[in-house]
Amino acid sequence: MFDKILIANRGEIALRVLRACKELGIATVAVHSTADAEAMHVRLADESVCIGPPPSKDSYLNIPNLLAACEITGADAVHPGYGFLSENARFAEILAEHNLGFIGPKAEHIRLMGDKIEAKRTAKRLGIPVVPGSDGAIDDVDEAMKVAKAIGFPVLVKAAAGGGGRGMKVAQTADDLALAISTAGNEAKSAFGDASVYLEKYLQKPRHIEIQVLGDGRGGAVHLGERDCSLQRRHQKVWEEGPSPVLTAAARARIGETCAKAMREMKYLGVGTVEFLYEDGEFYFIEMNTRIQVEHPVTEAITGIDLVLEQIRVANGADLPATQDQITISGHAIECRINAENPETFRPSPGKIQRYHPPGGLGVRIDSAVYQGYTIPPYYDSLVGKLIVHGKTRAECLMRLRRALDEIVVDGIETTLPLFRALVRDHDIIDGDYHIHWLEQYLSGVDRDR
Ligand code: ADP
Repeated sequence: MFDKILIANRGEIALRVLRACKELGIATVAVHSTADAEAMHVRLADESVCIGPPPSKDSYLNIPNLLAACEITGADAVHPGYGFLSENARFAEILAEHNLGFIGPKAEHIRLMGDKIEAKRTAKRLGIPVVPGSDGAIDDVDEAMKVAKAIGFPVLVKAAAGGGGRGMKVAQTADDLALAISTAGNEAKSAFGDASVYLEKYLQKPRHIEIQVLGDGRGGAVHLGERDCSLQRRHQKVWEEGPSPVLTAAARARIGETCAKAMREMKYLGVGTVEFLYEDGEFYFIEMNTRIQVEHPVTEAITGIDLVLEQIRVANGADLPATQDQITISGHAIECRINAENPETFRPSPGKIQRYHPPGGLGVRIDSAVYQGYTIPPYYDSLVGKLIVHGKTRAECLMRLRRALDEIVVDGIETTLPLFRALVRDHDIIDGDYHIHWLEQYLSGVDRDR
C-alpha cells in the first residue's frame, strides 16, 4: 500500500480524501495556497506544504510545485480530488515519470474521455446508447445544417473540450444555428483553448441520470447504481439523489450492466461516472467523468461502499471490494450542495462564517471544511458544504432532510440554504417529478408545465 499520499486539492474533498487515508493508515500531505494557510485540510493533515499564491494556476494547478512538495515530503502517490488536475492526463503521466502513483484512471482513459467527441465514439463502440448528433467535430455551418435538419431542431452545439456547462449553445431553429456555432466555439476557445464543437439533439425534458462505476484496471468492473442529478442551474448540479425516482430495478440493472461491461472491456481503473440524459425510457450517453464526483456520498449512503477508500485501494492494485451480486441498493439518499451564494441571484458571497452549527442525528452526513470563524476566500468555488441525508425510503429521506435543513446554521455569509428549505417542501420535488430544466423554471417563477 502507499505510505504517504499528497492530496492535490483543498476544501471538503481534501478532507474527504484525508479521512480515507487515515482509515487506511496512510500518512497525508496537504498542499495549500497562501489563501488557505488556515484551512481545515491543512490543520488535519500530517504535514503540509505551501505551493503558491491564491490564484489556482499558481498553486493548485502548479505541477512543478506539486512535484517539489512530493519530493520534500517523500509522498509516494497523489490524490487529485475533483476539479483542478483530476482530469489532466498529462499530470498523471508526469507523476508516473517521477515514479509517483496517481490515484485515478490510466492516463489514456482520462485523455479519451476528456475529448467529448472521442468519448462519444468510444461509448458507441462499447454498446452504450448515445444522443443523436454529428459524428465528430463540425467544420462549417453548411455541414452543421445538414446534420441539424437530419436530427431535427432544436439542437445543442457543444464544445469537444467542454466542462462545467461552458461552450454549450442551443439553436432553436435553423436561423440560430450559425450564431450558436460561433458563440459556442469562441467560448470554448477562451475557456479550453480548443474551439472544436459538435452537434447534439437538444432533448426537451430529460432527466440527468449517471451511473457510478468502479474498475480494477485488469478487466474487472462493477456498477454501483445511479444518481439523479436533474436539479441543475446553468448546467451545474444543485441537488442529487439516488436511486432516481423514475428508474425501475430492471432498468437500473440493464443500464448498469451495459456500463460495467464497457468498463471491463476498457480495463478501466478506479472510480468513474457515466453520465446520461434519460427521456421516455431511453438513455443517451453525454459524457464520462474519470474522477471522484462531488455527489459520490449519495452512492456511498445507499451502497455502504466507501468510494474514496476503494479508489485508493484499486489504484494500489487491490481487488474490487465486492462482486456485482454483492452490491445492493438500500434506502434513499439526497445531497444538497450548500453554496456561499445569494439564494436568489446566486451572486457569490465569500466572507467570514460568524456562527456555524452542523446538523446531526441518524442518517445525516455533512462533508464540509468550514468551521465557525472561518473565512471563505473569494478565489475558489463557493461550496460551503454538502448535506447528505439517508433514509429507508424517499419519503423518510425527505422528512429527515427537512429536519436537518431546519437545524443547520451558517451565519455571516449568504448561502443557498433557503432555496433547499423551499425545494424540500415543493410538490413536484416531493413527487420526484422534475427534469433538467425544472429548477431554472422554478427560479424564474414561470408557470411550470410538466
Ligand atoms: P459539461 O461537461 O459541461 O458538464 P455535459 O455534457 O455533462 O457538459 O452536460 C451538462 C448538462 O447540460 C447536462 O446535465 C444537461 O443538463 C445539459 N445537456 C447536455 N447535453 C444535452 C442535450 N443533448 N440536450 C439537452 N440538455 C443537455
